[in-house]
Amino acid sequence: MNFDTYSRCPVCTSKNIHFYKNGSFDFQTINRDLIKITDSDYGKTWDLWKCLDCGHIFANPYPRQEFIHSLYSTSEDPLYEEEAQGRGKNFIGILTILEKFHPEKGKLFDVGAATGILLDQAKHLGWIPSGIEASQWCVRVAKEKHKIHLMEGDFVAVEMKKNLFTAVTMVDFIEHIPQPFEAVSKAFKILSPGGTLCLVTPDIESFAARITGKRWWHFRPAHLAYFSMGSISKMLERAGFKIVKVKKYVWTFSAHYLLSRLRPFKFLIKNAALGSFWKKIPIKLALKDSYEIYARKEN
Ligand SMILES: [Zn+2]
Repeated sequence: MNFDTYSRCPVCTSKNIHFYKNGSFDFQTINRDLIKITDSDYGKTWDLWKCLDCGHIFANPYPRQEFIHSLYSTSEDPLYEEEAQGRGKNFIGILTILEKFHPEKGKLFDVGAATGILLDQAKHLGWIPSGIEASQWCVRVAKEKHKIHLMEGDFVAVEMKKNLFTAVTMVDFIEHIPQPFEAVSKAFKILSPGGTLCLVTPDIESFAARITGKRWWHFRPAHLAYFSMGSISKMLERAGFKIVKVKKYVWTFSAHYLLSRLRPFKFLIKNAALGSFWKKIPIKLALKDSYEIYARKEN
């Protein structure tokens, strides 16, 4: 069986969960193309349920962990790597804050490391980088392009020792998996006492989410859950963390990426020379519709 249903909230275990919104695609058709990081086919959701105790909104039924992992393990996304420069800028802010908490740096572990862009930057800033990634293609690109050696596998399922890392990063990861609490608990386990988790995930209660409604760009088949401050704090505290800093995440994309996402402008990037011109123009998008949360494993 590839799918299952929740009878309790996956974040807080409450039984007070109710149907929230009809899905807008046939979830049985989920495949590796529908879950690409750079998939532009947004506006599509699973059947969503809501927990009335913590506010968490989640796919129900949902794809089982082994099944969704098998889709990611064989997925390839060259467009993601083309955006390396823009994505790199997104991560500098995170590394700057982690460095304030841990001036001595140390070992940093990135969960859902993709092609290793965050870890490559962390390495240049003096951290000892490591991480895990489901996609075999991403693991290969990380090794060949950035000389970053990632574990290939499923973070929730893999065996890891405790107290290993100064910092753990999870950027746009927990909304992709059916067991977010288990992932955050695993991060707690592998962090050293005093270590910090940085969690980035879309905020379904953000202004952008409210005004764009069904067309919100984070509504996509790859997203199995939608968090708000209520559910994130519940999840982190239940796992043992103390939240130490909350901010809104600022995305940087190239002009090329944005134009390629907007159908009326696609003609502007078809010409190869013009296309590479757009790739060099960074655009900062202060959409403020994702949370960037820092949580500490207390001594
Ligand atoms: Zn809940």
